[in-house]
Amino acid sequence: MLPSVSEMVSLGEGWTPIVSAQAYGISFLAKLEFLAPTGSFKDRGTTVLVSLLRELGVTKVVEDSSGNAAASLAAYGARAGMHCKIFVPAQASPAKLAQIRVYGAELCPVEGPRESSSIAAQQAAQQAYYASHVYNPLILEGTKTFAYEVWEQLGRVPDHLVFPVGHGTLFLGAYLGFRDLLEAQLIEKLPALHAVQSEGYAPLYKIYKEDLSELPEIAPQSTVAEGICIQKPVRWRALQQAVRATCGKVITVSDEEILQAQRALAQQGLFVEPTAAVPIAGLQNLKRLFRPSDLIMAPLTGSGLKSFPTL
Ligand SMILES: *Cc1c(COP(=O)(O)O)cnc(C)c1O
Repeated sequence: MLPSVSEMVSLGEGWTPIVSAQAYGISFLAKLEFLAPTGSFKDRGTTVLVSLLRELGVTKVVEDSSGNAAASLAAYGARAGMHCKIFVPAQASPAKLAQIRVYGAELCPVEGPRESSSIAAQQAAQQAYYASHVYNPLILEGTKTFAYEVWEQLGRVPDHLVFPVGHGTLFLGAYLGFRDLLEAQLIEKLPALHAVQSEGYAPLYKIYKEDLSELPEIAPQSTVAEGICIQKPVRWRALQQAVRATCGKVITVSDEEILQAQRALAQQGLFVEPTAAVPIAGLQNLKRLFRPSDLIMAPLTGSGLKSFPTL
């Protein structure tokens, strides 16, 4: 199901545990993506990307990210012996910056909004390979494994899956993976895939609500969900199509709801960063769609250990 390479660059990613949890009186399965080697699901995409790049002889990569994607690339880049240059917003979480640095990547903080680091990375990409988590299609090849794994672990697929969505790389990878399973006749129908965004950064919600055919301009606001502060999701048409094809919904949650969900998870022993609590905050709103027998799942995408101390 994945692009073939003679030797993988791997840190033991994948096969994350699934545990039961509860929120707002709803029982759901949490897939612990924050137990990945660098603390977020980003490693699923990075292992595929870096493995292929090494095979092609790439030795220098650049990337821009608010934290987890860069930390992941820095780790796998170190493993593959590549030089990584990473552009980050100057205000990114200090623990994430420290993590990127410790793997030996060259860190370039950029003042201004998130978009400014993308522009800086794209300029630097004239001299090095742009190993972007957003643009590079190999990332989605890797995130497809989320869907395969869920099916292998449960012997079936859930009825509903709820994701935090910025650029939607996990959401789209999961969609592509479940579609592969359907085409292979291993499952009978696609699960409903729901996208949850932060109120402060909700372009996909606006597109969904107003049935737009153009990407809207949204004014950036502050939010505790730093991992999904995305004004212009590059694959928004594909996201819109995946939501439609699976009868999913797009909803938003407030910072207050996110922090409340983060605490509710921690009280069950699950410490995640605020961005990763976003789908759990969304369960309350989605509740009316769930039938009592439905199996509901959410990935917990990022570790609390490197998040800003919001608790
Ligand atoms: C990157 C990230 C997300 C969002 O991923 P997208 O591909 O932008 O939708 C969610 N949670 C965490 C912890 C992340 O690091």
